[in-house]
Amino acid sequence: MSKQLNVALIGNPNTGKTSVFNALTGLNQKVGNYPGITVDKKQGICKLSRGVKAHVLDLPGTYSLNASSLDENVVIELLLNKNDKDYPDVAIIVSDVENLKRNLLLFTQIKDLKIPTILVINMSDLMRRKGISLDIELLEAKLHTKIALVSTRKNRGIDELKQLIETYKTISTEPCLDTTLIDADYFQSLQKAFPNQDVYKLWLVITQDANFGKITRQELDISKFKTKSNHELKRLQQKEAIKRYQFINTILKEGQTIDRSKATDLRSKLDRLLIHKVWGYVIFFIVLLSIFQAIYDWATVPMDLIDTTFASLAEWVKNTFPGGGMVTDLVAEGIVSGIGGIVIFIPQIAFLFLFISVLEESGYMSRVVFLMDRVMRRFGLSGKSLVPLISGTACAIPAVMATRNIENWKERLITILVIPFTTCSARLPVYLIIIALVIPEGTIIGLSYQALTLMALYLIGFGMAILSAYILDRILKTKHKTFFVVEMPNYKLPLLKNVIITVIEKTRTFVFEAGKIILAISVILWVLASYGPGDKFNNAEAYVKATSASQTTYERSDQVAAYKLEHSYIGLVGKAIEPLIRPLGYDWKVGIGLVASFAAREVFVGTLATIYSVGSANEGENIDTIKTKMANETYADGTKVFTLASGISLLLFYAFAMQCMSTLAIVKRETKSWKWPILQLIGMTAIAYICALIAFQFLK
Ligand code: GDP
Ligand code: MG
Repeated sequence: MSKQLNVALIGNPNTGKTSVFNALTGLNQKVGNYPGITVDKKQGICKLSRGVKAHVLDLPGTYSLNASSLDENVVIELLLNKNDKDYPDVAIIVSDVENLKRNLLLFTQIKDLKIPTILVINMSDLMRRKGISLDIELLEAKLHTKIALVSTRKNRGIDELKQLIETYKTISTEPCLDTTLIDADYFQSLQKAFPNQDVYKLWLVITQDANFGKITRQELDISKFKTKSNHELKRLQQKEAIKRYQFINTILKEGQTIDRSKATDLRSKLDRLLIHKVWGYVIFFIVLLSIFQAIYDWATVPMDLIDTTFASLAEWVKNTFPGGGMVTDLVAEGIVSGIGGIVIFIPQIAFLFLFISVLEESGYMSRVVFLMDRVMRRFGLSGKSLVPLISGTACAIPAVMATRNIENWKERLITILVIPFTTCSARLPVYLIIIALVIPEGTIIGLSYQALTLMALYLIGFGMAILSAYILDRILKTKHKTFFVVEMPNYKLPLLKNVIITVIEKTRTFVFEAGKIILAISVILWVLASYGPGDKFNNAEAYVKATSASQTTYERSDQVAAYKLEHSYIGLVGKAIEPLIRPLGYDWKVGIGLVASFAAREVFVGTLATIYSVGSANEGENIDTIKTKMANETYADGTKVFTLASGISLLLFYAFAMQCMSTLAIVKRETKSWKWPILQLIGMTAIAYICALIAFQFLK
């Protein structure tokens, strides 16, 4: 067999690699497997002039040489292994004309491996419709390559491509990026340690280890050169991507013009409307409003259902296992209501992610991200921070997880830090009862004061998130320059399957990640509230009996419960912090509620219910009863505890304070450091305290 030429087709998914492959090889192809894995290996023969044959390999789609999947790993292993029988003499990078910027990232990486590289710009038939024009000569010069402008659909440019393959030896192998721009010291020392190796190749081997585990077929022993942690390596990789995009951007600025106003297809017309400087925002605002309306309307029914189900379940446990034993109480009050407190959020979370995934799947979300990026960037956030911030209205936990697709570390960190300011659904029950208590019922131009207050609280939360982001952006040292690349996928009807998977996956994450902590805490709280030191707790009945004589047994047992709580461990904590919260307008009973809320805010209402001894009231009447009791609550001197001043102060405290262990836990996990959750805890609680203090002192 005569020596044949090895050609590898590489490129992002859906750029037309397989189409180019078919155009080059016709029917001379076969499909096999890569050894050991189930990734298709397509190879074929392309006949060139003078009897030369090229062996063409259609590689799996890959976005970059930083592998994150088996498919991508195949490409990297091949390119890093000169001994592989398929190692390419020439690499053809297939890109599509619409996503040149993103495609060129991979191109520059492969070019820097010093492999002769041809750039195919496919789908040239779309250029006119999309209003794109290219200066091919200029691009060839700046990228040190040869370009074939191809349309496999119109069968254009294939012969030119074959010619380029034949003359591949004339293609320059000059690299695109100077690696010392990434980290001069590190790359120089790397080169010194392996003087015979290409430094970019070394870098890929090292980072590949960090990304995807050991490379299986490498001839290099880089284990002695592990001077950077995986975390640092990831940072440098990001820096590499940024430097590459800088390079690509300057070239495309000259070599590519996109005149969207000349574009004639439906997609471009829709784009023009959806990312319009005015209409874009108007449309987005309307979409957002409808989503919220729908979430609250649709989620109420299942939420009420869950609420009553768990209430009667707890009741059932108590009645079925009578005797008031400790285990029965623990199950009924600690565990069942703890689980109820988790399950109740499922409808809202499911609906929220239903909408988010429909927006994402349809392609609209990338337009929103693009649109909002202009605004968000001013506050140290990215357009991609928007979705997490919106998700935060359901629960901060999935929201923090949703920041993972923000590439820039600083923007991601800031987003994570400010997410808990957005009003999550756990604050809602607290808001509702306090609003009902202190905000009058009247209306102004048809809008109720109470509803307006609720809306104001949402806005305040969002405003504080933006403001803190702005401040954090100034304070935080890490200076990262960003290049914003959003893909603008085509519009399409969302796939039901994808939507359902997203919803289930997000809901499950919430139930398990947050759920177990909420459950654990509610059990701990139950213990703290059910036990106390000393005589007063243990002989509560006797004390209550001694103080007041004439009552029904029901009233008596309520009072005993309240008395016990007052002298339980948690009651002692509430009293201990009273001097601290007195300036905010709260007494020790509210203090207990605050301490309990640190576990999860929604337990505030339940805790108050016990403190104000409405334990035996019927479930349905609960809110009213607590409300009445709270409204009548006075200090020793007869002044009311819950006034407009203390109510507003309490609302502000809940709006800003970091009172959620589960969020802290997830922030720790996502930032891999305790530093950030602790900063969040202290910073947010300080802001909450100061705002509540000012509000109370000013209004009282
Ligand atoms: P691969 O994922 O990179 O292998 O890409 P494919 O070859 O499977 O092509 C992806 C999509 O792009 C298919 O729907 C093709 O029909 C389409 N496509 C490929 N080449 C062209 C082209 O030259 N013009 C247009 N308009 N579409 C193309
Ligand atoms: Mg393919």
